[in-house]
Amino acid sequence: MNNLIVNLSYFIAAVLFIYGLKQMASPNNARSGIQWAGAGMVLATVITFINPAIHGNYILMILGIGIGGGIAWYTGKRVAMTDMPQMIALYNGMGGGAAAAIAAVELLKRHELPFSVQLLAVLGALIGSVAFSGSLIAFAKLQGIKAFSGVIRFKNQQMVNAALFGLTVLLGLVIAFSGTEYSLFTLFIFFLLALIFGVMMTLPIGGADMPVVISLYNALTGLAVGFEGYVLGNPAMMIAGIVVGSAGTLLTQLMAKAMNRPISNVLFSQFGGSTGEAQAVTGSMKAIETPDAAIMMAFAEKVIIIPGYGMAVAQAQHKIQELTKLLTERGVKVKFAIHPVAGRMPGHMNVLLAEAGVPYDLIYDLDEINEEFATADVALVIGANDVVNPVARTDPNSPIYGMPILNADYAKNVIVIKRGQGAGFSGVENHLFFADNCRMLYGDGQKVASDLINAVKEF
Ligand code: NDP
Repeated sequence: MNNLIVNLSYFIAAVLFIYGLKQMASPNNARSGIQWAGAGMVLATVITFINPAIHGNYILMILGIGIGGGIAWYTGKRVAMTDMPQMIALYNGMGGGAAAAIAAVELLKRHELPFSVQLLAVLGALIGSVAFSGSLIAFAKLQGIKAFSGVIRFKNQQMVNAALFGLTVLLGLVIAFSGTEYSLFTLFIFFLLALIFGVMMTLPIGGADMPVVISLYNALTGLAVGFEGYVLGNPAMMIAGIVVGSAGTLLTQLMAKAMNRPISNVLFSQFGGSTGEAQAVTGSMKAIETPDAAIMMAFAEKVIIIPGYGMAVAQAQHKIQELTKLLTERGVKVKFAIHPVAGRMPGHMNVLLAEAGVPYDLIYDLDEINEEFATADVALVIGANDVVNPVARTDPNSPIYGMPILNADYAKNVIVIKRGQGAGFSGVENHLFFADNCRMLYGDGQKVASDLINAVKEF
């Protein structure tokens, strides 16, 4: 009877995961999607306690759930929206680490396992360990921890990494093929090398390519959890892993496409660190005062707004929504152009604009709107930098060369709201800011947007 309840509950949990994911497809239902998937996770966790196949130390289990859940609740409540990517990297890492830990427990027992199960346990251990240590490095990079930030390279790095990977796989195969005969020392070295490989693989990746890496680790974590679900014979875990793994794989492909780089290029090429000299910038940055910027927009026919990470930092989305409403009432056609990697996580800008009540039909993806910049009177860039940097089109020596950008520079006039002359996430100088048709409106995004609203109201 208990078995029936357990299996039925796992089935319901799996349905809830899939339904939740489906709901997350639109910002309208995303919140409820998270809640449905969360309900599935609660059900799967609770039912573990009556699962006759699990003979755990219940006190330890409750303690683990209590401590982990408590930390997640506290940090989840406190985390700033702009720090979400780090948080996601950390959670990804924990998922991969948990999968690797399950594999470690199973393999440490050295009990008879069918070959396919043993092989999957080893594969899950390898992928989970790489996702764990790699995600921790990604976390450190996104958090701006100095020792890890940027692109870290050394001589013959790719050869060292290839040798490390080869050795880890070899040890994994030895463990998978030797039944119960492998030594604990081999197992220890296998896990250690897998963890080191995760670190080494992530060190040379940085700058504008971080979105690809985060989603790749997301996919790997899902895969590892799915494999270990098979090892434990736990269908809910298998399905959750497959759902996360496939969603993460799709996201990785989308992100790589957005950066115009094959994944192999992100992971293994001289990427992010071209050896040639970057093009020198000519001209100077020209400032503009708020009333002049307001006149340009108030009397424009078409304004395209490009939000970026700085809008999220400034929490300026509500003011931008108000400005949009004001301009629209004056007969100005306002549209939003969203770059796929704007901000610090996929869909970051869409979520903020939806939260502020910007109508969806004003929001356009890069492919949909890029042709339109040539007909725009003003491109208003608020807190965006890398995603409008024309060197991605013009300078083969630039680390972001080849990344599709929003063609803000093709607009008749460009107004850039930012606090100072700082570079974007990739650290690359933005040539747009020096262009003849570009004016810099310095200040915090929210304050400037608020001043613009007041100034437009005067006309
Ligand atoms: P960038 O990070 O390139 O630039 C943001 C700009 O905002 C900065 O130049 C900064 O200039 C400005 N800014 C910061 N705070 C404020 C503020 N309070 N008010 C006004 N301006 C402010 O942003 P983009 O969105 O253009 O590009 C995203 C970058 O992040 C890409 O390189 C992408 O690859 C990377 N990334 C994206 C992820 C994703 O999934 N979307 C994940 C991880 C990285 P100043 O300091 O002068 O104000």
